[in-house]
Amino acid sequence: MSKQWSIEEAIQTYCIEKWAEGYFTVNEKGNMAVLPVEGDHTVNIDIDEVIKEIKSEGIQFPAVIRFHDILRSQIKKLNRTFRNVIEESKYEGRYFGVYPVKVNQMREVVEEIVDAGSNYDYGLEAGSKPEILSALAYNTNTNSLTILNGYKDKDFFRLGLLGSKLGRKVIFVIEKFSELRALLEVAKEMKIKPMIGIRAKISVRGIGKWADSGGDNAKFGLTIPEIIELVKELKDKEKLSIIKLIHFHIGSQVIDIKTISEAVSESARIYAKLRKMGVPIDYFDIGGGLAIDYDGSKSVSDSSKNYNLNEYVEDVVYGLKQVCDLEGVPHPNIVSESGRSITAHHSCVITNVIDSIEKKTKHFNTNKVTGEHILVSNIRALYNDLSADNFQVTYNEALQIKTDCMSAFRLGVIELEERAKIETIYWELLESIKEITNKISKVPSGLQNLNEELSSQYICNFSVFQSTADSWAINQLLPIVPISYLNERPTKNCSLVDITCDSDGKIDKFISMDGKSKTVPLHDIEGKEEYYIGIFLTGAYQDVMGDMHNLFGRLNEVHVFCDDDDPTDFYIEEVIQGNSSEQVLSTMQYNPDYMAMVMKKNIDRQIQRGKIQPREGVRLVDFYEECLKSYTYLK
Ligand code: PLP
Repeated sequence: MSKQWSIEEAIQTYCIEKWAEGYFTVNEKGNMAVLPVEGDHTVNIDIDEVIKEIKSEGIQFPAVIRFHDILRSQIKKLNRTFRNVIEESKYEGRYFGVYPVKVNQMREVVEEIVDAGSNYDYGLEAGSKPEILSALAYNTNTNSLTILNGYKDKDFFRLGLLGSKLGRKVIFVIEKFSELRALLEVAKEMKIKPMIGIRAKISVRGIGKWADSGGDNAKFGLTIPEIIELVKELKDKEKLSIIKLIHFHIGSQVIDIKTISEAVSESARIYAKLRKMGVPIDYFDIGGGLAIDYDGSKSVSDSSKNYNLNEYVEDVVYGLKQVCDLEGVPHPNIVSESGRSITAHHSCVITNVIDSIEKKTKHFNTNKVTGEHILVSNIRALYNDLSADNFQVTYNEALQIKTDCMSAFRLGVIELEERAKIETIYWELLESIKEITNKISKVPSGLQNLNEELSSQYICNFSVFQSTADSWAINQLLPIVPISYLNERPTKNCSLVDITCDSDGKIDKFISMDGKSKTVPLHDIEGKEEYYIGIFLTGAYQDVMGDMHNLFGRLNEVHVFCDDDDPTDFYIEEVIQGNSSEQVLSTMQYNPDYMAMVMKKNIDRQIQRGKIQPREGVRLVDFYEECLKSYTYLK
């Protein structure tokens, strides 16, 4: 098989153009490259160059690389699209986006979003007290919104009202009826008029992983009778004017545009009817849900979506306008709480392959010896006689011999060495059959899984539970592509296993040209000093939902900005060290100083007993202390 391969073949094999949204490609050197500035392909960052710089700074892998310019591009794209559609449809309200902090709470991410959104009065959404604390400190633009969702207590209200006192546009979204009275009490105590939104429990449900966020069994929101009760109560108290916003959120990753249209249409009617009841709502908040096409299939598969940004925005703006015009009510300002679509593309995880697990043991001697068991001779004969005319029958017979071999071994009829030879020849035979089937157009159905059967497992230096939580928890597909060698044909079909001591710590679902695949084509690592793999689109949720399984903890992080004047088109602005062993141990209530002291005492005792030489003892103490201070992942 020729090693030479075209870059176009690589782009197609890994479906790069389908999921990249124009931000990723393969450059002429065969390396993954980033085009972080939307519409400007002169800025082109070679990820291999970034890796080299990371290494030269002594930073270990695995590492998260954040391309901050992608965040900026996404903010601009979303705001521009709303502005354009609003203008072309003669919609009379404005667009006020807010970024939901929970999707990626990293300070640098939030700061970048607030900064990039400042020209658009782009705000923040928070759903917990720590998130409000961050929203208050980072969203200081008094023209933008601060939307507060989630269940709330009195301190939550106090924090939000502190923002109102500072002149911020803080809107409390009422998720439960009981929240209203608590808010009014706190507002009276703080002598400030609050602004509230109502989250409506609409009947439309999404499809996909987050469908339960909508519909009758949704966790959040008020039913229509509850909304009417709330309006009556505020009217009686002459406080109707505090209702400023109507909100719905039918779940993240809404994969079907039809669901969005239906949700907008139902909520627009609720808005219009409330408006006609005299409720002075100014904002129509469509929540999150704008999906990412992780698998690039443009379909209603769970990891995809059947619409683009423009279609989404058009559906919202035109759908809302139509209902408002029919009902004769003003066009409200539109708010969206997109998180996934803003952050997913901006970060990737780079892991290095440290070894592979193969079915066949290379160089195992399978030569004939006198008196060997007939099963060994038979499978060797099958292998020697294999041809394009008999591969199917040879496969069937080889499979039978392998099964017979296992029974014979259990009965004590064949020796360990003979079993090893049969297994080795069996896998060699299957590889030869695969080479034959690769050349024919119609592969018999029984042999279509050969790639999978012969696949390797590449051991990668990362933790699935820390870095790709959704691939483990909800079978989320994420694009996985080697960083280099993309001008060489990949010769191995692989699944990835991580370094946790957990069999679940693996990725065995990948994007492929034919849809989903259990393996991804990768290059042979033999003879390569390093082989890096990128796990892309990890900027939304994955980055921040990771857990401490096996105490691996957070990854080293590198923040990359583009710089047109630099020959490499980038510079590393910041490095955030990942967790050291002593940090993760401390979070689990261990005391690393105490641990080091106990170890030193134990080593000293062995020195006194003469079991360890003093010089070696000092080295061992130093080594233990150094390991406490170092990165948790493999060197
Ligand atoms: N708003 C609310 C109320 C949410 O619960 C969520 C997440 O599910 C979001 C916004 C963000 O959604 P997405 O990441 O799909 O844009």
